[in-house]
Amino acid sequence: MMAQYLEIKSAYPDCLLFYRMGDFYELFFEDAEVASRVLSIALTKRGKHQGNDIPMCGVPVDRADDYLLRLIAAEQRVAVCEQVEDPAEAKKRGPKSVVRREVIRLVTPGTITEERLLEPGQANLFLTIARRKQADESWMYGLAAVDISTGRFVLAESDQANLAAAIARLEPREIVLPEQIYYDEELLGFWREIRTSVTPLAGSGFESSSAEQRLRDYYNVASLDAFGSFSRPEIAAAGIALFYIEKTQFDDKPVLLPPIAEANGTTLSIDAATRANLELTRTLSGERNGSLLATIDRTQTPGGTRLLAEWLAGPLMEPTRIHRRQDAVAFFVENTPLRDNIRAVLKKIPDISRALSRLGLGRSGPRDLAALRDGLFAARELSGLLDRQQGELPQALTSIIRTITSLDTSVADELAALLDDELPLLKRDGGFIRPGAIPELDETRELQQDSRRFIASLQAQYATELDCRTLRIKHNNMLGYYIEVPQNVGQEMFQNQREKYVHRQTMSDAMRFTTVELGELEAKIASASDRALRIELGIFDRLCNTIVGQSRDIAATAAALAAADVFAGLAELAVELAWVRPHVDESLAFHIEGGRHPVVEAALRRDGKSFIANGCDLSSPETSSNPGGQILLITGPNMGGKSTYLRQNALIAILAQMGAFVPATEARIGIVDRLFSRVGAADDLARGRSTFMVEMVETAAILNQATARSLVILDEIGRGTSTFDGLSIAWAAIENLHEINRCRSLFATHFHELTVLSEKLSRLENATLKVTEWKGEVVFLHEVTSGAADRSYGLQVARLAGLPTAVINRAKVILAELERSDREQPKRAIIDDLPLFAMAQAQTRVPEVTEIPEPKDDPLRKALEDIDPDSMTPREALEALYLLKNKA
Ligand code: ADP
Repeated sequence: MMAQYLEIKSAYPDCLLFYRMGDFYELFFEDAEVASRVLSIALTKRGKHQGNDIPMCGVPVDRADDYLLRLIAAEQRVAVCEQVEDPAEAKKRGPKSVVRREVIRLVTPGTITEERLLEPGQANLFLTIARRKQADESWMYGLAAVDISTGRFVLAESDQANLAAAIARLEPREIVLPEQIYYDEELLGFWREIRTSVTPLAGSGFESSSAEQRLRDYYNVASLDAFGSFSRPEIAAAGIALFYIEKTQFDDKPVLLPPIAEANGTTLSIDAATRANLELTRTLSGERNGSLLATIDRTQTPGGTRLLAEWLAGPLMEPTRIHRRQDAVAFFVENTPLRDNIRAVLKKIPDISRALSRLGLGRSGPRDLAALRDGLFAARELSGLLDRQQGELPQALTSIIRTITSLDTSVADELAALLDDELPLLKRDGGFIRPGAIPELDETRELQQDSRRFIASLQAQYATELDCRTLRIKHNNMLGYYIEVPQNVGQEMFQNQREKYVHRQTMSDAMRFTTVELGELEAKIASASDRALRIELGIFDRLCNTIVGQSRDIAATAAALAAADVFAGLAELAVELAWVRPHVDESLAFHIEGGRHPVVEAALRRDGKSFIANGCDLSSPETSSNPGGQILLITGPNMGGKSTYLRQNALIAILAQMGAFVPATEARIGIVDRLFSRVGAADDLARGRSTFMVEMVETAAILNQATARSLVILDEIGRGTSTFDGLSIAWAAIENLHEINRCRSLFATHFHELTVLSEKLSRLENATLKVTEWKGEVVFLHEVTSGAADRSYGLQVARLAGLPTAVINRAKVILAELERSDREQPKRAIIDDLPLFAMAQAQTRVPEVTEIPEPKDDPLRKALEDIDPDSMTPREALEALYLLKNKA
């Protein structure tokens, strides 16, 4: 047996091997040590290998799910090895032969399907990556994300610069990629930084030609054209995804929906750091509670929750698509009774997608069938409710009705007729078909019942015969049916009635016997129950096949229900919190009145406090008759609400583009193509980067990539270095944003010196958070007004935080000193947060406001303006160029 174990194990060096022995999965050697540590189960020994004890531990098969869950959570991969023949068969080959075993499945974080292993409202994707060289020698990456538990299959493309953002949007549980990509020197650090489990695949066979074949075979189609057009890297990645499914699922073939390619640039790009900092789907500490998603989630079904998360992760860029979603939300906002009814129906809907996937994989039980029955009935009810509406429905809702009504739901009626009310978890337990539904089954059940009744009458008969009132006929797995009598009666039977009562077992106070009659009845019952189970399993398989045959239509209905759930949920949210429909268009406007931060507001509300709403206008002069500053420079004390304000505006843009209503009284937003942020500064020591390094890497990305369509929020850049270094970097960064990137930006800073920039940069405005003092205490009003902060209230805040009085008093003296020396050099502003050791430095020069030449007096500009390129010959153009060069 050990030889067999070692042979199987050698094929799965990177997995823990669950080796089936009877009712247990056993683990040996190192696997046993790892598992006993992770699962806190006892480590024992069994036999010896090369003279040493073999460590062993085991988990019972019927509780394996729980243990798998914990191993997966600990980033382990498990190979499940089953006995694939009856032990009796093995015995026939010889007394020493071992039962044949095979690995039938790999359990990895991204490929699980069991209900108990999955988070209901969360997708469970694995992601595969491939790449191809382009004409300009740069790599184009293909991404394929598959959720086996729902059949979702998404393809995308990305260049190297955007790879992290593309991965972050999909939030995979597991990443799988060819070794060549994993070990590429340029990317090695990249994979380590990703917090998901990354598995490099050895070997080749990932060419896009063979990938295409693999896809065609999987879907059994002659060409992929029917699914849309895919790029070569996408097809290559899809091929790897199918390869990985084969590798982990063996003979089980999950039902996958046709792949959907998301064209580059159809969703708002948000990089991983920004997603994390804005706490879109989880908080910085990794929890769902307290994230934007948890705050806005009013969905009723797990499928709805997953779709909401998907929409939030990938806000749209096309106004028409956004309007379509808004129309549906608005419809439900206006129709409260309908919304209530729809949500009540949705509440009854189980997780159809996941039940469907388990049915496809043969891992389902009777309750999965019931889930489909309930889901399909509810779908009919829901489309009926929508259909009965007066007047015109928004397009998104009519297409939901169309999808549901085009599904043949007769299988639901069949399920309703066949399934019993109470269902066992496992199909092999039987008893899930309703009595009266199948005559043949009723007959066999009748037979069982009769035999059981007959046994009861036998008990009475034997009791009279033997004159023993305590005689009982019982049943256990080892003996089957037997007669149990007290010792004295038993002894008597053993001595005198051997012919009729065959002795089976002697206990301390009882004896057990059987009779020929009892044996015959037992055989009858056993064969009847075998037959009953065979009939039930036959029906199960037939239903399962019908459903799997319709899987695409059912999956489409599940998707339609999820969409209805999201629309109704977003409407519920909008009504509950008085959110408004934002006006989304192609302009560069960004105008918000009465904006709020949804998560902070919810937290304040729980404490009985209210949130102070603030507007924001970053519209450029081209798009608004009354434009704000395209760059808003915000100063104000700590705790004043700067970070909250920055984030709330970013969140409003995201909500608007995902099609939701927004926490404001009015909003107009011109499509944002990329959202950049540099907020929060936490050392990333694990990656060996200081706060400052992280900050600069992120700032560099923004300055290099932000376009006029982008939205940038920057919180206190330049903080991680010395005051003047930081100030000058912040200064230059703002100039760059204003002149080069020309994007809509919010810039919060501690450097009050920066506020003078508003004099020079026409599209920059200052804003501050209002504070007032009351009896020497600082009071934060959290109100954004134009202008610069007069002072920073750092000492007051420090006192609020509980800094020792002696330190506060000493700081006051130092501050007064600094401010006095400042007056002597009037050009220098107050520099708060100044480290004590920088006092000497403070005597040195402060950067001047950069002189940008006035347009009118600039001869070069004048000459340029005089040039009319359309009317020039190439020679004249060349001459003009020399002329300009001379003037410069
Ligand atoms: P800063 O970034 O200026 O240090 P924060 O944005 O972190 O300040 O805000 C500090 C706290 O002030 C928040 O946790 C919140 O409780 C409160 N706050 C911020 N903005 C508002 C607001 N608009 N209305 C009410 N309370 C607010």
